[in-house]
Amino acid sequence: MSISGLFVAIGVAGSTDLAKKVGASTAENKILINENTETTIPGLFAAGDCTGGLLQISKAIYEGARAGTEVIKFIRNKTSKKSA
Ligand SMILES: Cc1cc2nc3c(=O)[nH]c(=O)nc-3n(C[C@H](O)[C@H](O)[C@H](O)COP(=O)(O)OP(=O)(O)OC[C@H]3O[C@@H](n4cnc5c(N)ncnc54)[C@H](O)[C@@H]3O)c2cc1C
Repeated sequence: MSISGLFVAIGVAGSTDLAKKVGASTAENKILINENTETTIPGLFAAGDCTGGLLQISKAIYEGARAGTEVIKFIRNKTSKKSA
């Protein structure tokens, strides 16, 4: 069999490794998130291929937008609790 090219990506540390290091729950090498893209660590959000499911750009963009929105809510909530 002949091939026209080979893309080697072995040994690259992925975002799942980073999540594991900080103690977020993972399963089958994917970061576990809830419907708000929150991981099991408060204030840590994940989006895209690293969360598993459909490995497509559209899903990564949706989750990224969702995570961004949830991060803002999280920070606002923290800030308002501090000033109260
Ligand atoms: C060959 C190929 C063809 C594809 N074709 C399509 C297609 O036609 N249509 C489609 O919808 N999808 C396609 N996909 C899938 C699509 O590319 C992915 O679903 C999408 O890129 C996921 O985006 P992401 O941001 O989650 O991850 P990525 O695009 O992989 O981005 C993650 C980024 O985080 C960086 N990173 C990881 N860990 C760390 C760290 N610890 N510190 C700093 N940076 C880190 C990585 O270097 C990378 O740049 C294809 C994928 C491949 C491989």
